Amino acid sequence: MIAGQKSRTALAGIVALALLAPVGALPTVEPAAEPAPETAAEPASLARFEARQFAPGEVVVVRWNGPQPAGSLEGRFLGREFRFFETNAGAAGMIGIDLDDPLGPATLAIHCENGAGGKDLVFTKKLAIVDKEFPTQELTVESKYVELSPENQKRTKEEGVLIRKAFVRNTPHRYFREGFQSPVPGAQSGRFGERRVFNGVPKSPHTGADLRAQTGTPVLATAEGVVIETGDFFYLGNVVFLDHGYGLISYYAHLSEILVSEGDIVSGGQILGKVGATGRVTGPHLHWGVKLRDTRVDPFALVELDFDALLAAP
Ligand SMILES: [Zn+2]
Repeated sequence: MIAGQKSRTALAGIVALALLAPVGALPTVEPAAEPAPETAAEPASLARFEARQFAPGEVVVVRWNGPQPAGSLEGRFLGREFRFFETNAGAAGMIGIDLDDPLGPATLAIHCENGAGGKDLVFTKKLAIVDKEFPTQELTVESKYVELSPENQKRTKEEGVLIRKAFVRNTPHRYFREGFQSPVPGAQSGRFGERRVFNGVPKSPHTGADLRAQTGTPVLATAEGVVIETGDFFYLGNVVFLDHGYGLISYYAHLSEILVSEGDIVSGGQILGKVGATGRVTGPHLHWGVKLRDTRVDPFALVELDFDALLAAP
């Protein structure tokens, strides 16, 4: 039947087009035969944005399509500055949307030295941040973790200073070379963003992912980084903090054993320590947290973005 043949031909065309398009990959920048003059670029095409969604706790990759080197670009979003780094497909930057960031439109600005006609250029784009529901989780822990003694109040205050120092780092070196991996395989027993009630008392939201695993399971670095802090903390138990560069910090808590030292440079997948049940826990698991320019983001937002496509060596 002719109508049927036409449909099949049309369908084949659609399938062929679909095969050409990278499925689930970050959009790639087509290499130009010769550098296009800056004035020919449409402002809207100068930057592209990749994220699971524009919502609290998400990571947004900003890809710059202009010819300017990463070092000449400065980004700003929700009052936070971010730097760009070089990739095989031009400059890119990463921003986080914090759990407490306001919903609705937010302007992202990229200031660029030496834009069209040698003048500085400011690119702006409005991103619409949508609401995201986080469930409430009720947990029961030892009462000392809910009603803090004066000694433990002092201890958590001192540890808080060290933690803040780690989270605000913005090292202009990209340690991460490829995609990010989950530090232990297995199911998440506690998700990022859950509103938490400990022994009936509402506490801070859960700002990491809990990965269920037996005590002694190796904990792997999500990507290359430098060990910036380790220790036995009141809430976090034995913990390792890694700086991956460009404001990206990851930490691994409640460990039974720490196998790295401050100053070590670790590769992605290297064993940092072992799963345990130290600090404020209900049982053995890994609490894995990620901060990006001091915003609290879901570690799995990193794992699920196709960074391999973005960051592979030229
Ligand atoms: Zn946790």
